[in-house]
Amino acid sequence: REVFSGGGFGGIEDLFGGGTSRRSRGASRSGSDLKIKLPLTLEEINTGVTKKIKIRRMDICKTCQGEGAKPGTSRITCPVCHGSGEVREISRSIFGQMVNVRPCNNCHGEGSVAEQRCPVCAGDGRIRDQKEISVQVPAGVNSGNYLTMRGEGNAGVRKGPRGDLIVIFEEKNHAMFIRNNDDIFVNLHISAAEAVLGTDLEIPTLNGRVRLTIPPGTQPGKMLRLKNKGIPHLHHTGRGDQIVRIEVDIPINISGSEKKMYQDLVELEQKRGLKFARFSKIE
Ligand SMILES: [Zn+2]
Ligand SMILES: [Zn+2]
Repeated sequence: REVFSGGGFGGIEDLFGGGTSRRSRGASRSGSDLKIKLPLTLEEINTGVTKKIKIRRMDICKTCQGEGAKPGTSRITCPVCHGSGEVREISRSIFGQMVNVRPCNNCHGEGSVAEQRCPVCAGDGRIRDQKEISVQVPAGVNSGNYLTMRGEGNAGVRKGPRGDLIVIFEEKNHAMFIRNNDDIFVNLHISAAEAVLGTDLEIPTLNGRVRLTIPPGTQPGKMLRLKNKGIPHLHHTGRGDQIVRIEVDIPINISGSEKKMYQDLVELEQKRGLKFARFSKIE
C-alpha cells in the first residue's frame, strides 16, 4: 500500500478492522482506492470533529446486481477463450515450441461475457454514485496525516472486494493563529506606555479567553507562554501551549497633550542621562 508523507498516524487505522483479504477470486477484481482531501479549521483540529463528506465512487449496479448482463439474460461462457479467461499463443522457434499466455481480450480475462449487456452500466456491473460518509477526525491531526477507511473505496468488479477510502487531512489557514507542532502563536500589540508600566489583558485562545499579565518593562519580541492552551497531542495525553509574542506599537499620530508628555520624558532622560548603551552589535 502507498505510504504518504507525514505518516506516523498508525493506531487509528486499526479501528476500521484491517486485514481484509484483497486477493481476487475468479473473475472478480478488487476495486481501486479513493483518495480525498479533507480541509479542517484549527478549531476543528483542536476539538476533533465528525465530518460528513460526499464522495463519488463506483457502486454495484442495482439493475444487474453487478453481473453486467441485461436483466432476464445471463452470462455465457466466452466463445474466444472457452471460459479460461486466457488465450494461449503457440509459436515455433529454433529453441522449440514457445507458449505465450495473455488475458483474453473478449472477456477481459473473466471467462464469461454478458449475452446482452446491462443497459444501465453498459456491462461493467458498476455505476458511479454519490455517497455521504461520516469521518471521525481525532483532535490533534496535522496536514498530511491520513485515515484509511477500509472497504469505503470503489466497488470491485463482479463482487470483488471494495477498495479503501483514504482521507488526507489539510489544515486551513487561520485568520489570527499559526500553529507550530501543537503550539499556537499569536502577536499581541501593546502601547509603549503599557510596555513600560505593564498591564493585564484578555487573550483569545482556541480554548477560550485567558487573562495574561504583561509585566512592567516588557520588551518587544518577548514571548509569553500560556501553558496547555494549544492543540491536543495526537499520540499522547496533554496539549501544546499558546505563545503570545509582544509587539510594541509606537504611535504615529498623537495629540498635543501626548506630545507634551513625550517631550517632558525626553527632557528628563537628557538631564538624567541614558540608562542603555546607544550602540550594540547586531546579533
Ligand atoms: Zn448493470
Ligand atoms: Zn474470453
